[in-house]
Amino acid sequence: MAEKDPVVISGGGPVAMVLSLALYRAGVPFITLETLDEPFMDQRAASYHPPTIEMLEGLGLTDAIIPEGLKSPIYRFHDRMTRDVVAEFDLGDLKDELKFPYVLQYEQYKLVRKTLALFGDKPDFDVRFSHTVTGFTQFDDHVDVTVKRADGTSETIRGAYLVGCDGGRSVVRREAGIDFIGFTYPEKFIKIGTYFDFTQHDKNIAIRNYFSDPGEWCNLFKVNGEPPKPGIWRFVVPMRVDETEEEAKSPDALQARLKRFFPRDDDYDVAYANVYTVSQCVAETFNKGRALLAGDSAHLNNPIGGMGLNGGIHDAINLASKLAPVWKGEANAELLDLYTRQRHRASTEFTQAQTIANKKQLEETDPATRAIRLDELRGIGADKEKARAYMRRAQLIDSVKATAAIT
Ligand SMILES: Cc1cc2nc3c(=O)[nH]c(=O)nc-3n(C[C@H](O)[C@H](O)[C@H](O)COP(=O)(O)OP(=O)(O)OC[C@H]3O[C@@H](n4cnc5c(N)ncnc54)[C@H](O)[C@@H]3O)c2cc1C
Repeated sequence: MAEKDPVVISGGGPVAMVLSLALYRAGVPFITLETLDEPFMDQRAASYHPPTIEMLEGLGLTDAIIPEGLKSPIYRFHDRMTRDVVAEFDLGDLKDELKFPYVLQYEQYKLVRKTLALFGDKPDFDVRFSHTVTGFTQFDDHVDVTVKRADGTSETIRGAYLVGCDGGRSVVRREAGIDFIGFTYPEKFIKIGTYFDFTQHDKNIAIRNYFSDPGEWCNLFKVNGEPPKPGIWRFVVPMRVDETEEEAKSPDALQARLKRFFPRDDDYDVAYANVYTVSQCVAETFNKGRALLAGDSAHLNNPIGGMGLNGGIHDAINLASKLAPVWKGEANAELLDLYTRQRHRASTEFTQAQTIANKKQLEETDPATRAIRLDELRGIGADKEKARAYMRRAQLIDSVKATAAIT
């Protein structure tokens, strides 16, 4: 086995880290290649759903990450126009069926850093920064991956398989000729991080909140942030279609957006502001010969519901469980087709469907339809059984079960 080629992973983001660790635990050698010089402070994902936390527990990460995150069993849907709480969901109501009956708020960059801090110095945990995957050639028994280093030199790395964990603009997906099917929303989203503690001023605000509004829906979540100023609230809203990034990120525009949401005389203490283009896309296949896709390289979705990284982690765990026996010669390579069948369905029927519906629900402009949608949600929230069913879908519990049943 020692002479066997390693699995090569393109990208060193959170999905690549989880896949690396899962392969490491399974005794499969890997080389993970990240174009950046070091992990960057990516402020996108922060919400980990219960099944995802269980998967991270399987890798031995939870003892380290849970104490550093924020446990959020409750989340609320609000009507931004009236400021009423439309529905409250409590994952504690699923405690009989969940090992972790809460969403963990923990920034995605911390998952990358923590994995590297715990395993980065192990001789077989081979993660190389400043290495950009530029292409690859497939052969019957291996794949040659071309890599450019930061100093401009190139090399070819021979691998048994190449996994694209290289994000929405994946080189692996492009070079494999795999279509990415879907659409991009015309409006961008802006995320503003502020230290202002909303819970001190509005008792209706929980750690995780969704606000429906025909003019400007919003998501408001808390994360722990970093010392010496811990506790950052992440405020996500759509931008106007004609608004430039520069306009949206100007200090006046940031203050205006926050003050429109929660008026106050003093300025908000803003930690950061980031603009995102948002798409709903799924790759036509997640495996083509020796090239595989996981995470954002395989699927993109809007962040309402916090599903992109969760789905990517589910991909990584699923893929490692199949790649390991295939690599060891204990299973036929056709097992990798099952990876596509399972995770493609999870992406389309669960994540895509749910996130598209989530956005429609929050942004509905027709007053009559909006009233019906909010009433439906009110009814679900008020009925324990319906609320439990709702949370099983929203927290990707159904997705994991349905996927596992596909053969
Ligand atoms: C505003 C917002 C909020 C979000 N919130 C959530 C949330 O709460 N929960 C959730 O589940 N998801 C959320 N998401 C989605 C989540 O951020 C992504 O799904 C997640 O980052 C995907 O991880 P990844 O590792 O697949 O890709 P990425 O995080 O994009 O990482 C890809 C890595 O590959 C590297 N790379 C790219 N090309 C190459 C190359 N050619 N060679 C080498 N390296 C390369 C990049 O530098 C990068 O480090 C959110 C997204 C947005 C926009």
